[in-house]
Amino acid sequence: MKSGCLVCGKDLVYLDSPEEIACSLCGRVHATSVRCAGGHFVCDDCHRLPAEDLIEKTCLETRVADPLLLAISLMRQPAIKMHGPEHHFLVPAVLLASYSLIAGKHDALGGWLKKARERAGQVKGGSCGTLGACGAAIGTGIFVSIISGATPLSRKEWMLSNLVTARSLHEIALAGGPRCCKRNTYIAILAASSFVNEEWGVVLPTGQGVACEFSDLNRECRKMECPFYPGEEGHPPGV
Ligand SMILES: [Zn+2]
Ligand SMILES: [Zn+2]
Repeated sequence: MKSGCLVCGKDLVYLDSPEEIACSLCGRVHATSVRCAGGHFVCDDCHRLPAEDLIEKTCLETRVADPLLLAISLMRQPAIKMHGPEHHFLVPAVLLASYSLIAGKHDALGGWLKKARERAGQVKGGSCGTLGACGAAIGTGIFVSIISGATPLSRKEWMLSNLVTARSLHEIALAGGPRCCKRNTYIAILAASSFVNEEWGVVLPTGQGVACEFSDLNRECRKMECPFYPGEEGHPPGV
């Protein structure tokens, strides 16, 4: 799966001579020798932002409607570690960005992302093992709770928010341990995407499946036992 530019997903291009381009995330103009085929550029200062800032800014500016592609582009950035609680925000953030683009609700996205970040911040690292509730699954509940406007007093919205967490958590559990924030992120995004399709008829484009590129960074990777491991012949990438 190709994923280059954080803003549009196009491949990066290396220039013969530097060009002055405004950073797509912060707007400051820099001379750069690398930009995407669509003309976007993200400056070094933005690439060095803490994970949650990078996720929030990118999801606000991106036009990548595929939440899996956007998640993978973000997970390639050094700020986002192999495992870590930043994935609890990453999951609802890419889903909200995708939903806002597909459903024509981009004006709401800034406020949604702030809410999601605050709520995801309450889910500590390691919740999968210590609470029996993976933060990526809870991230899908945060996503549906925000787009449906659920509160503890809602009826249908309350049900839907808990149902999407249940569905993604069920699939994450069946995939088995040990922890893998990448695997659980893929599963959560796919489960939430099919959920919004069934409930609201909104199709979040999740491409042709995932060939995970983070295996070498994960000491506990189950490799051929993981549906997302690119592996050898006869083991197609999971969907
Ligand atoms: Zn671009
Ligand atoms: Zn910048």
